[in-house]
Amino acid sequence: MNIHEYQAKELLAKFGAPIAAGYAAFTVDEAVEAAGRLPGPLYVVKSQIHAGGRGKGKFKELSPEAKGGVRLAFSLDEVRAHAADMLGNTLVTIQTGDAGKQVNRLYITDGADIAKEFYLALLVDRATGRIAFVVSTEGGMDIEEVAHSTPEKIHTFDVDPATGFMPHHGRSVAAALELTGDQAKQAAKVAASLYKAFEATDASQIEINPLALTEQGNILVLDAKVGFDSNAMFRHKDIAELRDETEEDPMELEASNYDLAYIKLDGDIGCMVNGAGLAMATMDIIKLNGMFPANFLDVGGGANKEKVTAAFKIILSDPAVKGILVNIFGGIMRCDIIADGIVAAAKEVNLQVPLVVRLEGTNVEKGKEILANSGLAIVPANDLGDAAKKIVAEVQKAAA
Ligand code: GDP
Ligand code: MG
Repeated sequence: MNIHEYQAKELLAKFGAPIAAGYAAFTVDEAVEAAGRLPGPLYVVKSQIHAGGRGKGKFKELSPEAKGGVRLAFSLDEVRAHAADMLGNTLVTIQTGDAGKQVNRLYITDGADIAKEFYLALLVDRATGRIAFVVSTEGGMDIEEVAHSTPEKIHTFDVDPATGFMPHHGRSVAAALELTGDQAKQAAKVAASLYKAFEATDASQIEINPLALTEQGNILVLDAKVGFDSNAMFRHKDIAELRDETEEDPMELEASNYDLAYIKLDGDIGCMVNGAGLAMATMDIIKLNGMFPANFLDVGGGANKEKVTAAFKIILSDPAVKGILVNIFGGIMRCDIIADGIVAAAKEVNLQVPLVVRLEGTNVEKGKEILANSGLAIVPANDLGDAAKKIVAEVQKAAA
């Protein structure tokens, strides 16, 4: 689960991270009023969307010469003009895709005089199972580009959870940022506060880009991208409330309402499977047969008619889907119940694309009988390999 920059900054401030003053705003008037509460004379008007690259982004509705989604303002009138430019308009950045994202919230913050921009991130290193620091003097710009062309400028190290964050970790961060004296101390303190925040909130990522050194010699968190482990949100009700559903993929959101695990992918074949492992295997075997899955979809153990219908609707709402492969193992849920669900759902959504169904498990013969007698053009399959071959053949036949 991701949150907005202003929410992330409020959260990190509670753990002692140095954040400039700022306020969220939902209307142009609120933006001006927020700026009025800041000391000035420099303000920053920042579009709040769950995507980075806002500074270099472009608004669809504005001329290509117009400034991006993060702008400096030197008066309340400029704040007003920038806010009016951003609110309600669609910001396209390298992370949003061509569709862009509508800006519905702004963050108005006290502007800093930047002397240098650094990069500092914490994430879970899956290989070591530890929280890792990623540190670079080359902040502000595209960190992927730095990693690609000058990897030696990116320093990483991880923290042993048994001993936790130690003073030497702070010194490592400061050294990687080539800071000395008081600034090194400040950087070490920031690193400690971020580690504390990461652990306490079950974060999966905290990315500060840029971490700025100001002309006055202060280290400041200027941008913050924070994501959390969704499976841990049940024990962080306050953070779960920060979820902004308008930022999420509408189909993935719909799926989560039905307790379905759905992730949209780029291929042509929609998949409906029970169990994450079986779903992965199904995707693999589709690829082995020369096509690509349009989604990952795990309907879970208790796949009833409502769930199967919701799953069909979600798969079919993707215009790229040219065929559906259902691969379900009836364990606790019997195959005949699942077959009933599939037939009812296929009729309800008026299925127009080829459908291959592979059932296995309890009451499989009864299930197959229901599919065969449904009057629908459902292609039965005996095993996973057979199912993948058949759906690829059906889709190719329909396209020919
Ligand atoms: P992003 O483009 O989505 O990563 O948004 P950022 O919050 O990182 O802002 C983009 C750029 O705007 C930063 O790299 C800075 O150069 C600039 N910026 C952000 N806040 C300030 C500020 O307070 N003062 C100044 N001078 N520049 C800022
Ligand atoms: Mg940034």
